[in-house]
Amino acid sequence: MKILVAVKRVVDAKIKVRPLPDHSGVDVKLAKMAMNPFDEIAIEKAVTLREAGVADEVVAVTVGPLKAVDTLRVAMAIGADRAVHVRTDESLEPLEPLAVAKVLRAVVEREKPDLVLLGKQAIDDDANQTGQMLSALCDMPLATFANEIVLEGGRWVVTRETDGGTQTVSLATPAVVTADLRLAEPRYVTLPAMGKARKKPVEDIELAGLGIDTAPRIRILGVEEPPARKAGVMVSGVDELVDRLKNEAHVI
Ligand code: AMP
Repeated sequence: MKILVAVKRVVDAKIKVRPLPDHSGVDVKLAKMAMNPFDEIAIEKAVTLREAGVADEVVAVTVGPLKAVDTLRVAMAIGADRAVHVRTDESLEPLEPLAVAKVLRAVVEREKPDLVLLGKQAIDDDANQTGQMLSALCDMPLATFANEIVLEGGRWVVTRETDGGTQTVSLATPAVVTADLRLAEPRYVTLPAMGKARKKPVEDIELAGLGIDTAPRIRILGVEEPPARKAGVMVSGVDELVDRLKNEAHVI
């Protein structure tokens, strides 16, 4: 079994980003970057499945500029065996989910994995679209928001997070699955592991050479920060709290 995991380089989750002065986007020029947290979870799960003997190989793939190779090194430090870097032009805007899904389809066609794992969503665009689009483009079954993946009788049995609880589904291979928070807990990446990762192979593919139409279809009209939260109020006790909730906030 081969598992292909899509990992995206995004602004570090701990960094607070601000809109650009003209509100056309978010200012990320000097921001610290890291692997999308849900993709770290996906890589961890794939590596765990290989360590358990369920899979033989874990391949990480990213679509992005030259620096995105750092994210692949982290994926290999967690335990991916090798990586594929589809290199985009530095001057290009980040690709939209549909464009990424088309590029990933090309990689799926070359690699022929038994399972494609993605994060449920990238924390920069919050799109939650790429896995769904990829499964449609590849005509593969899909399970989103996975919190467990087991191989049973040659099928992927996936437990999905739903609003009210969980749902378990059985998918024919090959399948596309997107990782939710509880699927795995990413291991700490040590320096020796990073050193080993530097020796693992990264295949470099130039996006332009794939002949895929990645032209943007969406125009961002504006980006705003959420409104600042008002300061809290100290109340003297339950009576005042109830009074304020009833007569000021009108919520009870
Ligand atoms: P999104 O649909 O943008 O929220 O992204 C969902 C998932 O698709 C991410 O968690 C990644 O696994 C994958 N993905 C999105 N963009 C890229 C990219 N540029 N390179 C590799 N994987 C990506």
